[in-house]
Amino acid sequence: MKFVDEYRDPDAARKLTRAIHHVITKPWTLMEVCGGQTHNIVKFGLDELLPPEVTLLHGPGCPVCVTPIEKIDAAIDLASRPDVIFCSFGDMLRVPGTDRDLLSVKAAGGDVRIVYSPLDAVRLAREHPQKQIVFFAVGFETTAPANAMAVYQARRQDLRNFTIIVSHVLVPPALEAILSSPKCRVQGFLAAGHVCTVMGFTEYVPIAARYHVPIVVTGFEPFDLLQGIYMCVKQLEEGRAEVENQYSRVVAERGNRPAQQIVAEVFEVVDRNWRGIGEIGRSGLGLKPEYRVFDAEQRFTLPRRGPAAESSECLSGLVLQGLVRPPDCRSFAVRCTPERPLGATMVSSEGACAAYYRHRRGTERHGERH
Ligand code: SF4
Repeated sequence: MKFVDEYRDPDAARKLTRAIHHVITKPWTLMEVCGGQTHNIVKFGLDELLPPEVTLLHGPGCPVCVTPIEKIDAAIDLASRPDVIFCSFGDMLRVPGTDRDLLSVKAAGGDVRIVYSPLDAVRLAREHPQKQIVFFAVGFETTAPANAMAVYQARRQDLRNFTIIVSHVLVPPALEAILSSPKCRVQGFLAAGHVCTVMGFTEYVPIAARYHVPIVVTGFEPFDLLQGIYMCVKQLEEGRAEVENQYSRVVAERGNRPAQQIVAEVFEVVDRNWRGIGEIGRSGLGLKPEYRVFDAEQRFTLPRRGPAAESSECLSGLVLQGLVRPPDCRSFAVRCTPERPLGATMVSSEGACAAYYRHRRGTERHGERH
């Protein structure tokens, strides 16, 4: 298959692996910031091809995993109401809130629907004027344009029965939060290619300079990931800290302007709470004042809750910051499985715990490989 097979070619992967072995002289710790990249690294065993000097950490690149528990509780509350059709991407349904998940609401008779585009939710709002349609708008810069377009269309069509729960997060502030931590071990980043397809990569330039870390915009196939790692290691070995673009077949330096424009039309940058990490200043998107009538949390009265508690045995906050790896968690594959998840990183198909469970379970447990 064109544009896939050539990026999974074993010979090309072997050549790149040899190049990494050739160039490396000392230990380096890199972090990928995308759940899709994490899954492919673990699925294809790329980390096991690398020289022992390279440590790969898995960052907070799974949007489902970092959606705060309060947002999930708000979604569950709204989805339980008889006059609401609640729309979401499928992977949000099993993410645990404080007491239950959206799937259990659906099982109890709630009208919870999986949609493949936020515009499907706009269509439902047109088709069911007697119902309130609430869409769960989560994700990074990647999903923000389509979600912004849905709100824009709802406004143009004067749909008064359409709202969204907004839980958008932004990657560059998360990188800065990780780099600012005194516990930070990351020396270079593989930036997620699809995020940069929308935003470009100019925002990374001051971060690379300020913290002296190389940032390589990287794709998702094995060839992309190995080449991104090679480019990052080469920079580190040469003492450089630049932004480079491995994924140039897709990503332009300034990104996708129309997508950025629709996001800027509808959303503004706000402080955001990240599940397992905490609040990061100016790290999320919220609706601008003129679009706030579409904010479900403002339109509906929601119960006041105290701070939401995570399972005390779940280390997903540390997993998301690259401070521990999934097998280091005592509950991994024992009390926590994709069928009975204790934390969001085991639920989501992009979560690091789920990646290790699916592709590496049984081969390493509780910190046996670092
Ligand atoms: S294995 Fe489960 S309990 Fe452990 S960190 Fe991952 S999600 Fe949390």
